Amino acid sequence: MLSWIMCFAMTLYAWALGLLDMSPLQFGLVGGMVMVTYLALHLAIRSGWTERFRDPSLTLFQILFATLVTLHIIGHADEARAILLMLFIIAAFFGVFQLRKEEYVLVAIVAVFGFAMIILGEIFDTTEHDRRTLLLLELGVFAVVMFWIAFIGSYVANLRRKLSQHNRNLEQAAGHLQHMAQHDELTGLPNRRHLITRLELAHATAEAGNYTFSVAVLDLDHFKQINDRHGHQAGDEVLTQFAERVTEVLRGGDQIMRVDDSLPDIGRFGGEEFLAILPGTDLEGAHLAAERLRRAIGDQPFETAAGPIECTVSIGLSEYRPGEPVHHTVGRADEALYSAKEKGRNRVADSGPST
Ligand code: GH3
Ligand code: MG
Ligand code: MG
Repeated sequence: MLSWIMCFAMTLYAWALGLLDMSPLQFGLVGGMVMVTYLALHLAIRSGWTERFRDPSLTLFQILFATLVTLHIIGHADEARAILLMLFIIAAFFGVFQLRKEEYVLVAIVAVFGFAMIILGEIFDTTEHDRRTLLLLELGVFAVVMFWIAFIGSYVANLRRKLSQHNRNLEQAAGHLQHMAQHDELTGLPNRRHLITRLELAHATAEAGNYTFSVAVLDLDHFKQINDRHGHQAGDEVLTQFAERVTEVLRGGDQIMRVDDSLPDIGRFGGEEFLAILPGTDLEGAHLAAERLRRAIGDQPFETAAGPIECTVSIGLSEYRPGEPVHHTVGRADEALYSAKEKGRNRVADSGPST
């Protein structure tokens, strides 16, 4: 738009100086048509209507339109023609954002052909030899400049395209790496690093307001035996299905006790040990959730390639105590897990009330 305003101002100035052979009506009509066209274009682009095209900015159309308007103006300019030719450069320059080589060459052909018509008309009108030579030179230089812009411009446009494709690939790779850095490969759950970040977040939220959370540490019972009896592969399958089952119980619909909108976070804390953060949940609520988890694991064997495998889980719970560092909360849940193992496994234990 700024370019249009600039070009229009220059053209208006040339017209006011009497350098354009156009009546006020003619000049007004051209100006009005340009404004209406650009208003329509603006609306079409802003409304998203042009999203259906390969190039939603309609660059080729815009440049061709500008070229035709400039040709029209130049056709009515005499002495000011050579200087007004410069306006072509502004229009053609926009092609570096989008145009392909064929499109750029098309712009050059239209501009040079149109300009040749104007020049040839004048060559036939004049009888002076020197004047003819000058006109031909004008046409020749113009053609060279336009085709030069077409080739260099499309070269730059192509570089831009490659660069943005390259950036997209990098972004994708970075997203992939980020996911890999935060998740466990076997189960797809958040890993220890990610869980620690989430724990710190829950801790900060609890510190900031009247809010509590609980931590559950889950450890599969006698998992070493499962590996020993059924093989490491079967052990992996149990871990994967364990992760699925726990996620389902913790996150599945109405089963979850929530006092706010945040869902529990569950991740693999290491080996066959998992950790869940239960936001907005006190010890009592944590017990209900943990019992449900314990039963969901123990009541039904895991179906693996090595046959059904029965497995139980022990769970240690702690509720955040205001003022304590978050690793204390986790440490207490770990101690509770240890006591659940001591008492015979397949059970839930807690580390005492939060105050
Ligand atoms: P406890 O009831 O006391 O927890 O007994 P346990 O055998 O589960 O305890 P321990 O921590 O001694 O053993 C954990 C085993 O889990 C040892 C290790 O080989 C196995 N394990 C850890 N990570 C993986 C894994 O990614 N895949 C498989 N298949 N096994 C794993
Ligand atoms: Mg274990
Ligand atoms: Mg263990």
